Amino acid sequence: MTMHAMQLDAPGTPLHAVERPLPEPGPGEVRIRVTACGVCRTDLHVADGDIHGHLPIIPGHEIVGRVEALGPGVTDFALGQRVGVPWLGHTCGTCPYCTSARENLCDTPQFTGFTRDGGFATHCLADAHFCFALPDAFDDLHAAPLLCAGLIGYRSYRMAGDAPVLGLYGFGAAAHILAQLAVWQGRKVFAFTREGDTAAQAFAREIGCAWAGDSTETPPEPLDAAILFAPVGALVPQALKAVKKGGRVVCGGIHMSDIPAFPYADLWEERSILSVANLTRQDGTEFLALAAEAGIRTHVTPMPLAQANEALERLRKGEVEGALVLVC
Ligand SMILES: [Zn+2]
Ligand SMILES: [Zn+2]
Repeated sequence: MTMHAMQLDAPGTPLHAVERPLPEPGPGEVRIRVTACGVCRTDLHVADGDIHGHLPIIPGHEIVGRVEALGPGVTDFALGQRVGVPWLGHTCGTCPYCTSARENLCDTPQFTGFTRDGGFATHCLADAHFCFALPDAFDDLHAAPLLCAGLIGYRSYRMAGDAPVLGLYGFGAAAHILAQLAVWQGRKVFAFTREGDTAAQAFAREIGCAWAGDSTETPPEPLDAAILFAPVGALVPQALKAVKKGGRVVCGGIHMSDIPAFPYADLWEERSILSVANLTRQDGTEFLALAAEAGIRTHVTPMPLAQANEALERLRKGEVEGALVLVC
């Protein structure tokens, strides 16, 4: 028995199709038959060498599939059960971060599709303690983007605090999910896109945003908080100018171009800038339940696994409405 996957050997080179023997799950692990795996901007950062993990690597950390084999000691899941695998693949459980409810900052973590093989494949292994059961409200295809875009988006959203007027910079997979949650919770959401991207702006209004415009524009009213999903450092001072006194600017991505210098006056009056890294399992459990309750509908475009390079290219060019999901 073998598995098929799209593998990255070196940054800046295309993924290529590989065939490998089916891996056996070790203690605490499950083997998953992958049915869908979302394509995240982080996969693009890995492929382009903006961030560096293990090589060769099979990317993909928005995995949905069925448990096909159980390693020794696994009791959380049964054979055939549907599971989701997120970016946080494993933590040590003993470092100061793990023992203070901040496992997202673990000193020796493993990340799916970055330091351990991910879901651009027909099969993968996962640590059962880091897999999620998924709400029935979502089929495999529509559940996939929840596992990173949704989940790390949700952590960013929590970090933004109780913000009745929320700005989202970069209206891709994460923003289209969060916007729905925020609107459902009665918040006013303003969407900022690349200059002139009227299609993304129309999409944002369609799913409930009160206003949508270019990231260079001033919003119709000041923001209580802004979340940046676009990997563009120049947006940080822009977003700071758009938030009220005491407002937060949350950077939700793993990589961003440099932030240009800006006057201290723009930060003053207790405005703050913070970044969000990874997720905790608590974030995941909370968010997945909320996503079902809020009736979030993910907007997905399926593509075959073999077209992983084309999918990354579409993301690179910003040609994606909602999320891309590889299916196999
Ligand atoms: Zn740890
Ligand atoms: Zn991701």
